[in-house]
Amino acid sequence: MINRNIVCTVCPVGCEIHVFGKDKNDLSVEGNKCKRGKAYSINEVIQPKRVLTSTVVVKNGKLKRLPVKSKGYIPKKYIFDAMRIINDITVTAPVSMGDVIINNILGLGIDVISCRNIEAE
Ligand code: SF4
Repeated sequence: MINRNIVCTVCPVGCEIHVFGKDKNDLSVEGNKCKRGKAYSINEVIQPKRVLTSTVVVKNGKLKRLPVKSKGYIPKKYIFDAMRIINDITVTAPVSMGDVIINNILGLGIDVISCRNIEAE
């Protein structure tokens, strides 16, 4: 039996959504104001995912750390493994926004990219 209350984070309205049902193949939702909230809340129950944001060390740059993010949603169960890989990364400036910092992290088909430009010192 599934019975969860989820706050939808897709938009600023923040609907409180009740997801319930016999199992993951038989779910109903209440409290959503739109279809996006239904899809979001069901995904949160079946396979929660997050965009991962972090920073990596920069060598030879005007800044010492580079903000990075996953270019897609990573299943929550892989977030800690992905963080371990990100924590071991050092990049060398210059770096441009959108540069791929880690290609296909954990074989998930998702790249980790740079979120800003950093010039060389
Ligand atoms: S259900 Fe729709 S309106 Fe409500 S928070 Fe989610 S996206 Fe926004």
